[in-house]
Amino acid sequence: MKILSHFILLCATILGLCSSIAIGFRFYVEETHSIETEFTQDIDDKAQALEQEILLNIEVLHALKGVFISSEYVSRAEFSQVAKSFLMRHSDIQALEWVPKVLDNQRGEFEAQQKRFSADFEFTERASDGSLISAGQRAYYYPVYYLEPHSGNEKAFGFDLASSRARNEALALATDLGMPIASEGVNLVQAKNQKGLLIFLPVYQGEPNTLSKRRQRLQGFVLGVYRISDMFDSAVKRTSAQGLYYILEDITDDKHQALYSNFGGNSSLDLHQSASEIVYQKPLTSFAGRRWQIHAMPSKGYIAARRTAFPYLVGAFGILASFALAIYVFFVMRHTHMVDTQVQERTRELNLAKKKLEALSMTDSLTRIGNRRYFDDAFQREWSLAIRNKTRLALLMIDIDNFKSYNDTYGHLAGDQCLKEVAQAIAEALHRPGDVVARYGGEEFVVLLPYTRDCLSPAQRCCGNVEALNIPHASSSTRPYVTVSVGVTSIIPTENDEMIKFAAVADMALYKAKENGRNQVFIDAEEIKPKAELVV
Ligand code: GH3
Ligand code: MG
Ligand code: MG
Repeated sequence: MKILSHFILLCATILGLCSSIAIGFRFYVEETHSIETEFTQDIDDKAQALEQEILLNIEVLHALKGVFISSEYVSRAEFSQVAKSFLMRHSDIQALEWVPKVLDNQRGEFEAQQKRFSADFEFTERASDGSLISAGQRAYYYPVYYLEPHSGNEKAFGFDLASSRARNEALALATDLGMPIASEGVNLVQAKNQKGLLIFLPVYQGEPNTLSKRRQRLQGFVLGVYRISDMFDSAVKRTSAQGLYYILEDITDDKHQALYSNFGGNSSLDLHQSASEIVYQKPLTSFAGRRWQIHAMPSKGYIAARRTAFPYLVGAFGILASFALAIYVFFVMRHTHMVDTQVQERTRELNLAKKKLEALSMTDSLTRIGNRRYFDDAFQREWSLAIRNKTRLALLMIDIDNFKSYNDTYGHLAGDQCLKEVAQAIAEALHRPGDVVARYGGEEFVVLLPYTRDCLSPAQRCCGNVEALNIPHASSSTRPYVTVSVGVTSIIPTENDEMIKFAAVADMALYKAKENGRNQVFIDAEEIKPKAELVV
């Protein structure tokens, strides 16, 4: 029982500990989830800010285009003035350019014009990817004609944009769609370590609405060269979240070209190798034919600033509470066990005392055999049993002969001693454990013999045993020693018989024995039928 309760306590404690850890972990997961949500929200904010920045920059091109549409001829000074005003307000623009379409037969004239403006003008062809389309292969050129600011961008001046196959295709697409088209990220000669973005916006004569008209009426392109890092930075400046690592990627051709990152890494692989399990990819709305995405992860500092001790506190509190409860229950159990043991001990002592008391209350204090009460209980019990089992019950009434004169002769103390010895002699005359002997009162004794057919022999043994004591009794009218007379009766009782009448028969038999001369047995019993009797 004790082991079982300790086992249950141990199981409950382990359950408590596991639950505490599980609850703490659950809170941790919830917190991670909310950090993740906040993080994606922050990145969404940045993406939105960047989208707005890109749209603003495209708007600049549209505004610049407006200058060319509203006027037959835009002079270099005019262009410069308008472009400067834009450049002042947009710090991420590297250059704004006007790129006219120059047919092959106009090339000489064009070059001559340029040289007038700038002696070092040179019509250049460059393509870093090796896909150069040399001048001889084309019917038209897209040389950079107006350029603002000039200083710092000198190398771009006169540069033929159609000389590279990829750029040529982008220009053709912009022409056909009548929409701005952006290049992939290019290395800027002017701004080291920064990728640049070129956006071409076609300018037509009038408003052509078919493909062939667009091709025919193309005048040239307004071109914006943007520093991607600056663009990103000025967009991100508008958002508050700090401590985020991100890479801006161009995913137009599924190549994942890294355009910008705000940490050491320059490829998305670095992000995947990072320690943080939270990574988020946010694609931007497509613009000018390009698709960009922000690939981001939070820094350790970002997570640490949002992590709280709450999950750990919950776990720790649960563990402590489980331990405290287990210790408390353990001590309560121990105390209960001690109280139980004490109660058991006391109960045992009490039962012992009760038994002793019962035995005392059933014992005759002088002769140490059963008293009248003991006899009454036994008589009632044996009578009922005999009725139920239909067995024979014998009753012996024994009385010391001439005891009054014994007292008178030898004194009461001697009389008491005599009573003790006679009681012992009668008790020794009975051999079965079920036989009952008791002091009936005064110098009278009574014997109950259950399941006994031969009740004469025990009665005679009682007489004989007392005679054998040979206690001198000088004043006895019977013998010169102490003797007893015994009245015997026997019955197989039924519900119709009465105990009191049965006892009266025995008493009467005793009276007969006295009458017949004492020191003898007198039997007064109904006819005995041996075969019907149960004799044990
Ligand atoms: P009988 O042979 O007819 O039985 O004569 P008896 O003298 O024995 O009978 P009786 O009833 O006249 O006297 C019984 C006596 O037993 C009277 C009483 O003094 C004595 N007696 C009864 N109880 C005790 C006892 O506890 N101690 C002593 N010493 N004597 C007792
Ligand atoms: Mg008597
Ligand atoms: Mg007597």
